[in-house]
Amino acid sequence: MATDATPSAIAADATPSATAADVVPSAPASGSQCGACNFLRRRCIQGCVFAPYFRHKQDFAAIHKIFGAKNASKLLASLPVSNRSAAAFTLSYEAQARLQDPMYGCVSEILALQQQV
Ligand SMILES: [Zn+2]
Repeated sequence: MATDATPSAIAADATPSATAADVVPSAPASGSQCGACNFLRRRCIQGCVFAPYFRHKQDFAAIHKIFGAKNASKLLASLPVSNRSAAAFTLSYEAQARLQDPMYGCVSEILALQQQV
């Protein structure tokens, strides 16, 4: 009497998939630095304002060069946690644009888009 009672996967998987907005920023694993602290060659303390948003030091290099680490830190710390991710992305985007176009920065892209309208 060998009854094979293995349950079969009947139902389609109805679990919601995570979207980019659902991703919760997390601190780096213990013993590792965030990208910003790695770039700045300092110890990454618990609660580092950069840790959830900058994993690689290349991400932070442009921000440090354009805005300065202290200014970026102050700006992020002054915002509610829910807005910091967008601010970090915006800082990064603006810094990259400013490096590519020191005169206009991201405004050159805005002007180019305005002319298409
Ligand atoms: Zn850090």
